[in-house]
Amino acid sequence: MAKLALSRKNLWEKSPRVVKSLAGLVLGRIPPGVTLGRRFRETLRFATEAEWWSAEQSRHYQVEQLRSICTLAYEQTGFYRSLFDSVGFDPRDLRSPSDLATIPTIDKVTLRQHLDEMCAVSPDAGGVDTVSTGGSSGEPLKFYVGAERSAIEYAYLVASWARIGYRLDIPQAVLRGQIVGKDRSGVHHSYDPVLRRHYYSNFHMTDENIRRYLDHIRTIGPCYLHVYPSSAATLARVARRLDDPAPSNICGILAGSETVFAEDRKLAESVFQTRYLSWYGHSEKAVMAAECEQSTDYHAWSTYGFFELLDEQGHPLTEPGKRGEIAGTSFINRVVPFIRYRTGDYAVYVADACERCGRQQAVFRSVEGRWPGGCLIAKDGSAIALTAFNVHDDTFDLTLGYQFYQSDPGKAVLRILPVHPLSESEQKKIIRRASDRLQGQVALTLEIRDALEHTVRGKQLRVVSRLGGSDGDGS
Ligand SMILES: [Zn+2]
Repeated sequence: MAKLALSRKNLWEKSPRVVKSLAGLVLGRIPPGVTLGRRFRETLRFATEAEWWSAEQSRHYQVEQLRSICTLAYEQTGFYRSLFDSVGFDPRDLRSPSDLATIPTIDKVTLRQHLDEMCAVSPDAGGVDTVSTGGSSGEPLKFYVGAERSAIEYAYLVASWARIGYRLDIPQAVLRGQIVGKDRSGVHHSYDPVLRRHYYSNFHMTDENIRRYLDHIRTIGPCYLHVYPSSAATLARVARRLDDPAPSNICGILAGSETVFAEDRKLAESVFQTRYLSWYGHSEKAVMAAECEQSTDYHAWSTYGFFELLDEQGHPLTEPGKRGEIAGTSFINRVVPFIRYRTGDYAVYVADACERCGRQQAVFRSVEGRWPGGCLIAKDGSAIALTAFNVHDDTFDLTLGYQFYQSDPGKAVLRILPVHPLSESEQKKIIRRASDRLQGQVALTLEIRDALEHTVRGKQLRVVSRLGGSDGDGS
């Protein structure tokens, strides 16, 4: 969210209700592009144009940006100066993105150990924000970034969402971990007229509350769902079971920040009869990507950062179908340069450009990683990715959600949140079907719960892993 809108939103949340209703009348008439600020508008215009650049234009831009960020890093930080010197890399000689491959990669551990020597600008300078994120090991990650990055990121998101018709003046129904109190009619709902956003609580996803959310969504006119993938799945599962038809005013589903499971996407698209678009991004602002409108492959924005997929030795992958770690060099963060930063997220390499839409941007698919999602570990130690846990029948219809808890290889607890007390045969059916899908690799026991574990940001964990001391949390 843009810095400007964010600060206004904070003010907004603290305002008395009477002030809100008066101010809302005024703010609701101002186009969101205006309230989001000049940096946002300029970036949106730029991104919308740049996504159709030729391969040559994109490459030229990337070389300029890479040379600029590497020069800044070399001249202003002790860390990068000695790193570059150690391999004989001189930023002035950078002529091609492939020249970057001589530089060693960095990761979260590097940041934790060397943050002070990695700052190109003093963290105390004006316009610098401190970012803290929950790490995949539960250990928070801290770094600094320019305050304008939120406006820039939001512009890229809006440009991505435009692929399925989203425009700033269209309302959003948002379920993304916000703390939302009850409104006058008792629904966990609040409205932000600046961003045209209706927030609903995804910490209160009972049947009855979801029915009320759906009823409310029906009243807000043409809108987009802006959600975590797990929230879209829960909404869809409940909507399918309710007697009322699903709202028909949802123009598209914008889903990001968790692993997207194919079965969840299919379910949401079929229940709400609309297109689902997912994006990939992270707090470090090194890579931003969004799905093609003509497939579910991701395209990395070539003007946001330099995207690489790396094999285990750290070499860039160029072979279609190979899985590697997503690494990025940020063009956005000029406070702490992120150069060849390994994200801990994994994806499959597809191509350098998209054959379907013609965008000359790196194409990848099947993102998995530090997001909630993950794997179950079989008795023989093999990892079973939950993306392979295809459920497109009615197995989980009697649940509001499910999650696996694993503390030993080869066995796991399937925790479910039932919609009503389940009979023994209903319970057995769920266990049998889930076990079949895991092909007997993981012995399951069922646990009926009244809540599932979330991350602090409200993302639902598909696997809570207590193997080897890992907490299975995601940022
Ligand atoms: Zn495409």
